[in-house]
Amino acid sequence: MKKNDVVKVTIEDIGINGEGIGKIQNYPLFVKGGIPGDEILARITKTKKTYGYGRVEEILHPSPDRIEPPCPIAEPCGGCQLQALSYEKQLTFKEKTVKGNLERIGKVPSPLLEKVMNPIVGMEEPFRYRNKAAYPIGRNRDGRIVAGFYAGRTHQIIPVDDCLLGKKENKTILNKIISHMEKHQIEPYDEVGHRGLIRHVLIRYGEKTGEWMVSIVINGNTIPKKEELIEALVGIQGMTSISLSVNKKNTNVIMGNEIITIWGQEYITDKIGDLSFQISPLAFYQVNQKQTEKLYNLALTYADLKGKEKVWDLYCGIGTISLFLAQKAEMVYGVEVVPEAIENAKENAKINGLANARFYVGKAEEVLPAHIKEHGRAEVIVVDPPRKGCAESLLETMVNMEPERIVYVSCDSATLARDVKYLRENGYELREVTPVDQFGMTVHVECVCLMTRKET
Ligand code: SAH
Repeated sequence: MKKNDVVKVTIEDIGINGEGIGKIQNYPLFVKGGIPGDEILARITKTKKTYGYGRVEEILHPSPDRIEPPCPIAEPCGGCQLQALSYEKQLTFKEKTVKGNLERIGKVPSPLLEKVMNPIVGMEEPFRYRNKAAYPIGRNRDGRIVAGFYAGRTHQIIPVDDCLLGKKENKTILNKIISHMEKHQIEPYDEVGHRGLIRHVLIRYGEKTGEWMVSIVINGNTIPKKEELIEALVGIQGMTSISLSVNKKNTNVIMGNEIITIWGQEYITDKIGDLSFQISPLAFYQVNQKQTEKLYNLALTYADLKGKEKVWDLYCGIGTISLFLAQKAEMVYGVEVVPEAIENAKENAKINGLANARFYVGKAEEVLPAHIKEHGRAEVIVVDPPRKGCAESLLETMVNMEPERIVYVSCDSATLARDVKYLRENGYELREVTPVDQFGMTVHVECVCLMTRKET
């Protein structure tokens, strides 16, 4: 088999990036756009010794689980890897991913895994769930200013101002900004030449409060005719915060560190459960409010607090989980590396009347060991790291602290599995695993686990 050959193949599985996997005489072929159950003709695009890549040339018999993607640009955009798969089967795939990683990478024995794995918590409505969108602004092939998404890993912007995962109003906001740019000949940023002014538009929405935040990322210090743009944007009901984010660096990091509030306040507020949270442009906040509520409730259940416990919440962001826990614990210590997020966390503790939460800026792996003596034993440690998981030194510190319970919230089950392996080898047992779908249509899986200290 070689490049450009066309072969008949049945797709049997989904790979970690959402691609279909079929086999030709035991040679795995990764086919972008293939859905398990599809019988297709695939054109080979690349061959390696033990596997190859192809793309769908023709669907001979579509899988019963295949659906017509509701978004017209689902394929070129690539952000929704699973839109052509029925939502039910997306959930099955995600459960399998978590289980597979815990088995292969985590070396969790099958009988234990069967016992601890709970069914995935799905969404009622798997579209329009994202409360945050960052649209790059650029020019399309005809030279018109457009908002959209970078196609795959390219510099090419695919115009789309109504992403179906985001809010309908995003389009109105983007149109107002683009009209302003056209009227005053304001140049969009050009990544290749590192020229132009407007780079990205960050939009955030408070699902429970109806508050809107717009932060315009610029390669400069201000926007021409700023007052006129503000006037256009404040016409949107619920507009609460308009800011500029200065990013003059030649980088693919979206936000600049300097935030200049040009109208309203710097933050918006949203609610999860009974708690209110102030969210700044630079702070991390879960993108799916409804599912986050379910996720945090599970984390709280697993923490099993009776009121006398000391708890650490590592990677705490704006203190969301910390304050959830503070409702039931004696004392919660939160640690987070982004200073703006910690400012939000402290303010959030105040506005919710929770005096039993303290927050530290810094890396979890550095802050935790530095404060063990001061705070003494903790019964529960919660971690919610970014995709790369926890530093091994942090896991080591945690194990030495001997908490009764570790609640691990993860957005990447491969690194979760790696860390579970370490913890199982060092005195902890896996008790509960519940995937929660925070990111319908995409391959990403969120997951919450409980580990408890083994009796010695
Ligand atoms: N628990 C929060 C945030 C989770 S996202 C929530 O549910 O909203 C992960 C957070 O970890 C981000 O806010 C990120 O800024 C922070 N972070 C990344 N590396 C870190 C480290 N080494 N130490 C502490 N925080 C870190």
